[in-house]
Amino acid sequence: FAGAAILLLFSACQQQQQKPVDDIDRKITELLSKMTLEEKVGQMNQYTGFYDLTGPAPSEGNAKNKYEHIKQGLVGSMLNVRGVENVRKMQQLAVDSSRLGIPMIFGFDVIHGHKTLSPIPLAESASWDLQAIEKSARVAAIEASAEGLNWTFAPMVDVSHDPRWGRVMEGAGEDPFLGSKIAIARVKGFQGDDLSADNTIAACAKHWAGYGFVEGGRDYNTVDVSSTTLYNVIFPPFKAAVEEANVRTFMNAFNIINGVPSTGNSFLLRDVLKGDWDFTGFVVSDWSSGAEMINHGYARDLEQVAELAANAGSDMDMESYAYVLHLVDVVKAGKVKESVVDDAVRRILRVKYELGLFDDPYRYCSEEREKKEIYSPDHLAAALDMAKKSIVLLKNENGLLPLSKTQKKLAIIGTLANDKNSPLGNWRMAGDENTAVSVLEGLEKYNADLKYAEGVKLVTGPEAFATELEINTTDRSKFAEAINLAKQSEVVVMVLGENGLQTGEARSRADLGLPGLQEELLEAVYKVNPNIVLVLMNGRPLTIEWAHNHIPAIVEAWQLGTETGNALAQVLFGDYNPSGKLPMTFPRSSAHIPVYYNHFNTGRPGPKTEVFWPHYMDESYIPLYPFGFGLSYSTFEYSGLEVHEVEPGKFEVTVQVSNVSAVDGEEVVQLYIRDRVASIVRPVKELKGFEKRMIKAGETIAVSFVLTQKELGFYNGEGKFLAEPGDFDLWVGPSSAEGLHTSFELK
Ligand code: BGC
Repeated sequence: FAGAAILLLFSACQQQQQKPVDDIDRKITELLSKMTLEEKVGQMNQYTGFYDLTGPAPSEGNAKNKYEHIKQGLVGSMLNVRGVENVRKMQQLAVDSSRLGIPMIFGFDVIHGHKTLSPIPLAESASWDLQAIEKSARVAAIEASAEGLNWTFAPMVDVSHDPRWGRVMEGAGEDPFLGSKIAIARVKGFQGDDLSADNTIAACAKHWAGYGFVEGGRDYNTVDVSSTTLYNVIFPPFKAAVEEANVRTFMNAFNIINGVPSTGNSFLLRDVLKGDWDFTGFVVSDWSSGAEMINHGYARDLEQVAELAANAGSDMDMESYAYVLHLVDVVKAGKVKESVVDDAVRRILRVKYELGLFDDPYRYCSEEREKKEIYSPDHLAAALDMAKKSIVLLKNENGLLPLSKTQKKLAIIGTLANDKNSPLGNWRMAGDENTAVSVLEGLEKYNADLKYAEGVKLVTGPEAFATELEINTTDRSKFAEAINLAKQSEVVVMVLGENGLQTGEARSRADLGLPGLQEELLEAVYKVNPNIVLVLMNGRPLTIEWAHNHIPAIVEAWQLGTETGNALAQVLFGDYNPSGKLPMTFPRSSAHIPVYYNHFNTGRPGPKTEVFWPHYMDESYIPLYPFGFGLSYSTFEYSGLEVHEVEPGKFEVTVQVSNVSAVDGEEVVQLYIRDRVASIVRPVKELKGFEKRMIKAGETIAVSFVLTQKELGFYNGEGKFLAEPGDFDLWVGPSSAEGLHTSFELK
């Protein structure tokens, strides 16, 4: 009897642990039972296709003919096919010609808008405006789905401390808390409330994991991080995307973690993602990241790649050809169980069912929608709104800003001012060049007296995605014209920074100063007219210490997308009060890197501060602009910070924020904590809450936050979450470097 009871209990537990079987599961089971091993492996294969179907069928790498493969049911997904007509033709190959007619899923890098381009993701993150960010992703999904696409390789949620890494432009900056909130907003925006609607697309959290920590900021480089950094800094945005936004796909990283390439890393894929976090979607490799395991020295050949990647839990192979060429044989040889393949295929089919592709494989193929949605007025308005909100005012002395609309003798200098391409930033596709409103165009609408001089060329050779850019370091022939114009002007706006293709993948830089001769031009203009508003157009933090020490007004405008000029004009002429805050620390010099606000203390006291931080003899270790920093045309004052324990382990924090100026403005009220003593050393400050609020001129508002064990705890090196009793510091203020302070105890 006792034995039977135990048995009953055991089977009850087992039942409880099993996930409920839903309608989609049943359909998948039925379909799976009809599939050959070859067809199953086909679902795990993704090909790129830039091709025009009227041209000759391509054959690439070791894969035979891609079209033949589609017809044979050996391709589950394509990337880089774009436009309703092309998607429809490709889909027809799969649906009409393959034995089971399983539709393909079409992926694309929809990173910051699709045709209507939003600011680059780092810029959007500077808005700290989660609703606007969600809306931006929503717009991107509407346009992408109107072009036949149903899956984006975004958001990139890699936290990074290193602005030399060109891909910081694609992320949310250096902070895991802000990064998690933004990851959720972006995934929700792409996927909407209902993935089966025809204007929502599957999102992809990438790159899993640790890609933002490449050594020296050099793209694709080695990553060597501690497990506490993995759990507390790198994982949180991914975890949030899974648990709070139900992201449907993940993408592997190129790098190693703990000596094992991410694509073959079963700790990342099986233990954490599919185990601890119960992720039900699928994982795609990064471009050829499977095959790169050979170069890493982890796999002998492509056949072993197929074995290691499949067993580790990489469900779909992007352009390595490992699965399509070898996985069937590897399974037949018993090195990968067929159940491993089944699990991968189930995950892929599930997302296809969720997208509604089995109901109608052409549901994303509507020429009518394509015409109507792309560049719609609503989308342009959202892009403009997002662009304004992304701008960060870094310095404003002598009341230089906002400029008067009737300002006489206004000059604008810098090649980027007249550039309609760079403001679009990287990750936009061929055919969309020069579609931004340039800064010059935007400002001209406001001020008829504006005169332009290029000053200096930035790039000398042709702009191309795939090649290095040739930066001008010798040609000063246009300096004189710019200097003359500055002499005759009252105020000079200088637009300086990076070419739009100087950041992004494979765009690491060692020196983050203004590239080329721009700094020299800035100094030369300053000599004849110091009334300069410096507008920075760039995809990463830059080292601009000289400018900070001399130039009275500095505006961080990033790469703001299609509406760049219009957004910037509104800020410079005072129609929009800047409200952005930096999502990444600005270093003083490139040798300063990595410098980030949420570092650990050292044991050694510093000379002037209680933050113990290893110092340089020849450079301050205080950043140029801290994380969370950004000014406004309003002036805000903080008072009355209080913290109360409202129930055991739950604290309410309240603060008053006053706008003591005559201008309405928005403030991002930021809350930071420090766990003073813990079993794993905690950072000197950690963001744990923020609120972006409009405060009218002369008004005082109360802002409150709730802190629970979730915000106060941390992970140990084994991934165990701990909320330990003890004393905490608490700050609430306008940036990570300023604010009111108090403390409290978690009992
Ligand atoms: C990038 C990914 C991107 C993929 C497809 C890779 O090189 O690392 O982020 O999604 O290409 O374009």
